[in-house]
Amino acid sequence: MRHEPRSGAIEEACFWLARHPVPAESVLAGEHCADLVVVGAGLTGLWTAIHLRRLAPALDVTIVEAGRVASGASGRNAGILSDTIDHSHRLAIAHFGHDEAHRLAALGRANLAELTAFLTTHGIDCALEPTGILTTALTAGHLSQLEDSLAAACSLGVNDWRLLSADETRAEIHSERYQGGLLNPAGAILDPVRLTTGLARYARQIGVRIFEDSPVEALERERDGVRITTATGRLRARRCVLATSAYTHRLLPRVRHRFIPLFDYVRVSEPLTTAQRAIIGWQGRQGVTDARSFFNYYRLTADGRVLWGTSEAAYYPPNRVDPACDDSARHYAELRASFAWHFPALSELEFPWSWGGAICATTRFTPFFGTALGGRVHYGLGFTGHGLGTTHLAGKILAHVTLERDSDLLTLRLVREPPFPYPPEPLRRWAVGRVTHDLRRVDAGGRPSLLLRLLDALGLGLSS
Ligand SMILES: Cc1cc2nc3c(=O)[nH]c(=O)nc-3n(C[C@H](O)[C@H](O)[C@H](O)COP(=O)(O)OP(=O)(O)OC[C@H]3O[C@@H](n4cnc5c(N)ncnc54)[C@H](O)[C@@H]3O)c2cc1C
Repeated sequence: MRHEPRSGAIEEACFWLARHPVPAESVLAGEHCADLVVVGAGLTGLWTAIHLRRLAPALDVTIVEAGRVASGASGRNAGILSDTIDHSHRLAIAHFGHDEAHRLAALGRANLAELTAFLTTHGIDCALEPTGILTTALTAGHLSQLEDSLAAACSLGVNDWRLLSADETRAEIHSERYQGGLLNPAGAILDPVRLTTGLARYARQIGVRIFEDSPVEALERERDGVRITTATGRLRARRCVLATSAYTHRLLPRVRHRFIPLFDYVRVSEPLTTAQRAIIGWQGRQGVTDARSFFNYYRLTADGRVLWGTSEAAYYPPNRVDPACDDSARHYAELRASFAWHFPALSELEFPWSWGGAICATTRFTPFFGTALGGRVHYGLGFTGHGLGTTHLAGKILAHVTLERDSDLLTLRLVREPPFPYPPEPLRRWAVGRVTHDLRRVDAGGRPSLLLRLLDALGLGLSS
């Protein structure tokens, strides 16, 4: 008999969070002061706090988190760590031009090296495995896309990607669906909750205070600083960083037009038996995506389970982000079907863990940064499905901006220029529905619609 997908609290539904429950720490109660306050204890908030303390060790840094450390996307993701800052090198060229894309490619590699060195130096064990990332072609059309991706990478000075034939790809992971593949040796897989809680532990060690179970209800200007208010307390600080990702519009409604929250859904199987492992192969344990617009992404966990996710995310108008969005029976059924399509011999595999989480998507698939309340508040969000790596970079950017320190990073176009806005509701839900429909047709082998071609021409498309 099949197990029904778990539903209920995310702490029980999410494999990573259930494996490593995050204990309750202190709640913000009464009156507090800090030099700097960061709202949100996901990866962006933690990296920002760590970089702030490194740049200004004398300043008091406090984080205020609505749930627990890692209860947002940072604890719910697939744990596939990539070196690309944009969604792809081809999109980086389309969005920012060749020279800037070249800079982003080098920065992405340096960022990954710095991040992994940090984890080693500070003993943060998050089961990181430098497996590389494999993009698979499921159709002949995808093969030419992979060739284009390889050419784009080479043109940006990334010379270690390798095209695999159908046989080579199937030798890695045994699916007859694969027509070929593209291997990026620079990626890795890891346990996202162990990464995020490891960073929180380190942040506390260097003096960062973290209040949890303390949703910020109001953020207000006060003299030359800010005041944040929760149900049980208040905190005054000179400067504030909002590291609240897909939830940011609740505190700062004006960013609403720059991003949409999209819910991605993921399932995790029982551990594969030795026989099932022989069927699937996967000795290299690579993180995998395929070349469709709405792709599956998947990996093995440290204890040999399959994590299977979909980028065919759901938008709940108008920019809804609440626990009701964390569950989608339709997506869970589609995930089971897509896994069985790839691996028919394993179609009976049970997937007892199922959950969703909000990614924060901009029209250009890269984060954006900004300032509010007369320079007292800074924010950075919009990491789409690449936040594991880019939040490290974003934390550095936010720390420099907040402390008014100079950095070459502040000259990046993605820091200086906001993304093209999304239309307001109700046009927004119509546009998201229309683009989703048209991209599905392309994934099914159809030609791009006029709308998709128009968006591509405007640099707002998904032709990655
Ligand atoms: C299903 C899924 C799969 C993904 N897979 C990958 C992947 O394989 N690789 C990859 O690189 N990226 C992946 N991502 C994206 C990645 O997880 C995110 O980009 C990244 O975690 C963003 O980190 P963050 O800290 O900005 O946001 P979050 O982790 O969402 O943190 C924001 C925090 O702010 C808190 N908050 C919000 N409002 C308030 C408030 N009012 N008061 C106090 N606190 C508040 C929230 O509770 C939350 O903890 C995936 C995301 C999802 C959902």
